Amino acid sequence: MIPLLSVDVAVIGAGPAGLAAATAARQAGAERVAVFERLGEPGGILPQCIHNGFGLHVFQEELTGPEYAERFVVQAREAGVEFWLNSMVLSLSAERRLSVMSPQGLVHVEAARVVLAMGCRERTGPNILLGGARPAGVFTAGTAQRLVNVEGYLPGREVVIVGSGDIGLIMARRLTLEGARVKAVVELLPYPGGLARNVRQCLEDFGIPLRLAHATLSVEGRRRVSGVVIAPLDETGRPVLSRAEQIPCDTVLLSVGLIPENELSRQAGLELDPRTGGAAVDERGETSIPGIFACGNVLQVHDLVDYVTAEASAVGRWAGSSQASGSRELALVPGGNARYVVPQRLSAGLVPPFTISTRVQRPAGASVVRLGGVVIARRAVVRPAEMIRVDVKPGDWTKVLAEVGSEGCLRLEVEEERP
Ligand SMILES: Cc1cc2nc3c(=O)[nH]c(=O)nc-3n(C[C@H](O)[C@H](O)[C@H](O)COP(=O)(O)OP(=O)(O)OC[C@H]3O[C@@H](n4cnc5c(N)ncnc54)[C@H](O)[C@@H]3O)c2cc1C
Repeated sequence: MIPLLSVDVAVIGAGPAGLAAATAARQAGAERVAVFERLGEPGGILPQCIHNGFGLHVFQEELTGPEYAERFVVQAREAGVEFWLNSMVLSLSAERRLSVMSPQGLVHVEAARVVLAMGCRERTGPNILLGGARPAGVFTAGTAQRLVNVEGYLPGREVVIVGSGDIGLIMARRLTLEGARVKAVVELLPYPGGLARNVRQCLEDFGIPLRLAHATLSVEGRRRVSGVVIAPLDETGRPVLSRAEQIPCDTVLLSVGLIPENELSRQAGLELDPRTGGAAVDERGETSIPGIFACGNVLQVHDLVDYVTAEASAVGRWAGSSQASGSRELALVPGGNARYVVPQRLSAGLVPPFTISTRVQRPAGASVVRLGGVVIARRAVVRPAEMIRVDVKPGDWTKVLAEVGSEGCLRLEVEEERP
């Protein structure tokens, strides 16, 4: 007989999102809150992020990833959250039934509410149609981070990093400090994929070249990587083959984006937003299936872990209280330079403040953020690497509601201000 466990809130994933959501759910009054984590320790990806820079917003302190995670593990335990480690959630139904493979064997869980906090996985070579054979020496940046920071192995001596996402930038510095030579970071786009502060602190400070607007055509080598071939892009975005060059190296790291881990969400049949790769949610983080919520990187890829914590705490509070959602729903769609918007739905009767997140499609100078035509924020500069989070104020929301037409749809726009 398979044991059946009944909980008020089941949280899937014990990364920073799951930890904050579970703690908030308990503090909001939920009796039994259980977190299911497939790894042997809580913290998600943070235990392998040993550099500092975490917690500047939440604690006004510069913490390392393990330190940041530890604070939330302690908080969750003190709040009475139940931890199920080495416990992989195998399935999730729309009726909020989970099957979990745990050290006690297979367990079935029925939950009044579920919080999805499964995080992301990294894109790999096949995801970007990387050419060449499959020699040893190609790693995702996160795998290399784990090898160096947790297992104590150096993946190679002469390294090229493909893609300029934050994890790749951080690994460029890390490998340099460990004695490897990072010969280049190669980026397809004309601007970096990671935060400006990481470009400065991880590449410029160490003299590591950033080759923008360059395609990586192939990885060379049969048994072990011997080099990569790159070429600049012309103004139409095609590689100029006559200017292709080979960079000799023994290791290639891929830092080419993250994919929200939504296999369980698909299984449950909830609506996903193709722009974010995450669930479509309302302002409380509730998905299209009542009682199932989502937060953290599984909802949208975040730039800073502090924002993951803020978002997940708010979602956890809703999941832990038994309040029903608001009245009439308004659809929220991105416009102008906005690539996506979270949440995708708002209740007309909601009480501000609430938070809206977006990212832009391309870098721009001073820009305004408009909701339903009302300016709700300004930014001196906008970049695709940086999330824009705006707390909508009560006064602005009243103005927005006055502008809503009968179609019940609101546009979230980011527009560059013309001088
Ligand atoms: C490799 C990598 C390195 C990163 N480095 C940095 C960095 O240096 N600095 C920074 O600010 N941000 C970094 N990030 C971004 C970071 O992911 C987020 O800021 C934050 O960790 C996201 O929190 P999360 O809880 O949503 O996801 P995660 O931290 O990814 O946690 C998700 C958890 O869910 C668990 N899980 C998934 N599916 C299941 C399942 N079916 N059953 C049970 N458990 C499950 C996973 O094992 C994991 O522990 C990195 C991300 C990655 C992928």
